[in-house]
Amino acid sequence: MKKFNRILLKLSGESLMGEQGYGIDTKRLNEYAAQIKEVQQMGVQISIVIGGGNIFRGLSGAGKGFDRVKGDQMGMCATVINSLALSSALGAAGVKSRVLTAIRMEPIGEFYSKWKAIEAMERGEVAIISCGTGSPYFTTDTGSSLRGIEIEADVMLKGTRVDGVYTADPEKDPTATKFSDISYDEVLQRGLRVMDITATAMCKENNLPIYVFNMDIVGNLKKVIEGEDIGTFVHA
Ligand code: UDP
Repeated sequence: MKKFNRILLKLSGESLMGEQGYGIDTKRLNEYAAQIKEVQQMGVQISIVIGGGNIFRGLSGAGKGFDRVKGDQMGMCATVINSLALSSALGAAGVKSRVLTAIRMEPIGEFYSKWKAIEAMERGEVAIISCGTGSPYFTTDTGSSLRGIEIEADVMLKGTRVDGVYTADPEKDPTATKFSDISYDEVLQRGLRVMDITATAMCKENNLPIYVFNMDIVGNLKKVIEGEDIGTFVHA
């Protein structure tokens, strides 16, 4: 019935803003919470890493004159805001969750450790791991790879607004075709922008498979857990 027992779900901050140009679209947020609840009820252990691009990105901040490290720290704070929003939406849907932060900021969240995340999942709570890696010059994609490897997830599910990995950007190139499955090496060689190079390389070195799918379509997360072929599988 279920293909994966323990997942690391990566949600992009950008998707969280829905139709708005900025911030958090509560409709999208509640849809995400409902989808997560659905797979939790199937007995899947879930850890989540959320991006912060709907609020702030260090790199774009640097382009406007911000100090890069401070900008990245602002971006990491943005991931905490999104994590708290998701935790709140999950609570409203009747799902217990625990926000962990890679940078100390009790009582907003508990200071992250692998064991706290695993304990939370084993208690039936969703572990929401915020601040990415906790260091500047990284992305939440790399944070997801790192946490996915640490918590010994079966797979990293990258929920985006496109339905998989394409030969080119499908939003720009109408001739782009989708891969149903592809190797880490081919992703790196073709320079495909599934995730940044650091994140893909980490998954490759530690053999964490990635599944890219469209999380903005309600019901898709459950389909992925059930093994339906709706996205792209990236593996060795
Ligand atoms: N960030 C960081 N270190 C990390 C993860 C994130 O400095 O380990 C900062 C970085 O500035 C990044 C921002 O947080 O631009 C938001 O994360 P990301 O761009 O990955 O969010 P997404 O694109 O998924 O919305």
